[in-house]
Amino acid sequence: MSAVLDTTSHARSEAAPVQTGLRWINRYAQLGPAYVTALAPQALPATHPPYWVGQSRAVGDLLGLTPDWTQSDELLAALTGNAPLAGSAPVATVYSGHQFGVWAGQLGDGRALLLGEAQGITDQGLEVQLKGAGRTPYSRMGDGRAVLRSSIREFLASEAMHALGVPTTRALCVTGSDAPVRREEIETAAVVTRVAPSFIRFGHFEHFASREQFDELRVLADYVIDRYYPECRTTDAYQGNAYAALLAAVSERTAVLLAHWQAVGFCHGVMNTDNMSILGLTLDYGPYQFLDGYNPAHICNHSDNQGRYAYARQPNVAYWNLHALAQALLPLIEDETLAQAAVDVYRERFPLELDARYRAKLGLHTDQPDDRALLEATLRLLAQERTDYTIFWRRLSRFVAERAQLTAGAEGSESTKVGAAAQNLRDLFIDTTAFDAWLRGYEARLSQENVQASAALMLSVNPKFVLRNWLGEQVIRQARGKDYSGVARLLALLERPYEEHPGFEAEAGFPPDWAASIEISCSS
Ligand code: AMP
Ligand code: MG
Repeated sequence: MSAVLDTTSHARSEAAPVQTGLRWINRYAQLGPAYVTALAPQALPATHPPYWVGQSRAVGDLLGLTPDWTQSDELLAALTGNAPLAGSAPVATVYSGHQFGVWAGQLGDGRALLLGEAQGITDQGLEVQLKGAGRTPYSRMGDGRAVLRSSIREFLASEAMHALGVPTTRALCVTGSDAPVRREEIETAAVVTRVAPSFIRFGHFEHFASREQFDELRVLADYVIDRYYPECRTTDAYQGNAYAALLAAVSERTAVLLAHWQAVGFCHGVMNTDNMSILGLTLDYGPYQFLDGYNPAHICNHSDNQGRYAYARQPNVAYWNLHALAQALLPLIEDETLAQAAVDVYRERFPLELDARYRAKLGLHTDQPDDRALLEATLRLLAQERTDYTIFWRRLSRFVAERAQLTAGAEGSESTKVGAAAQNLRDLFIDTTAFDAWLRGYEARLSQENVQASAALMLSVNPKFVLRNWLGEQVIRQARGKDYSGVARLLALLERPYEEHPGFEAEAGFPPDWAASIEISCSS
């Protein structure tokens, strides 16, 4: 990770503070020096002025920025780390964690800088973080930078996941600079501005627990409870133990998160405990991938030799990670049985959540005894030929919509079209005998539903567009050639993934042959 940029000599910014109208409250920073180190971002060299690469108006609105922010050169400088933001009080936070199942000791914000917490339009408080804004005391051997490629991937994925209804950190923008950064080859620098109610990780708790700093641990837990889980103070559950209630609440949110990931076919790639959000958000987009063909053993991270974080293993890894959190909270909970019960909320909740997601994907409103077997048969069918996961569910939705049209009596002139969706669905399979057998079972089950309602549900939960690796790669290649229009175009699709977007059939189609050669590693 040695830097081409001479990152040590870059000036911390001395430019005039940029006014944004945001109201800053900066609560995490007030916890003090055990938790944070105050420092300004490291400016990129003036010889390589920054430029906008991608912008999310939706996130700007959420923060309460005036719409002209997208044109502001001052904000461009500030969000690249070249000028301070008035009212912000930047800090890097310290955390530790388990990486690939092994205790890694202290990590921390090695290239992320928490600018502060803005009030936002809901008054809930939104932390704003720059990722790639230079070295911090936690950078270890790293250069504190992020590259264009991985920054575009994080930006687009954050907004795509949000639009899919998956809990996630958000991203306001990506800015770039031609300043060179060394990875496997020389790339260029970029900064992602991330936004979330909190970036606190399981690893923040593990940090203080591992050092037996139990007072600091308690302050952190109290902060998280008071800010984000106030109901833990008043519950009678867990013998009124607020810390056990916190662990249970985090376990529940993690169960919801993992059910979303599995149902949408999302592989995170690096489910280390320092990448697990205490709010149950998808956090730290690195070598992630949306499944193309359905393969439960799929490993998206080329650095994950053992397949620890393979798609089908993610739910178990989350449970393992919750145990690491439980271990960290144990000095506060002071009762192993309570802690175990709190973590086991995950085990109870995850299957229910996953079931709910898959029932919706199948268009099932009612509950029937054989539904579980139907779902298992469906996933077996997909695994058999590694059928494209997203396309299957969307074509199945279209097929049910076609059925709905038929039963609504829309035959007549439409009748030539009826059957096209069924054919499209069937075309996905080589073993049509297996498919036909499965379809008979599915149709029998569907006959117990209101097919109109099923179709509407399915088209609202089975996306037409997901951020496949090749789609990201295509706009990254354009961006390297200084054309950022692809980033904006792809964002517009991903922000409304359930809509048809006529004219964008290729983006909804199978990955092209060249996509097979894309390799995504931890390097970012
Ligand atoms: P990750 O694998 O991205 O979750 O990162 C693990 C740890 O390495 C975190 O503490 C990061 O802040 C740190 N890190 C990753 N890349 C860099 C980099 N280029 N410079 C400094 N720290 C980094
Ligand atoms: Mg990380």
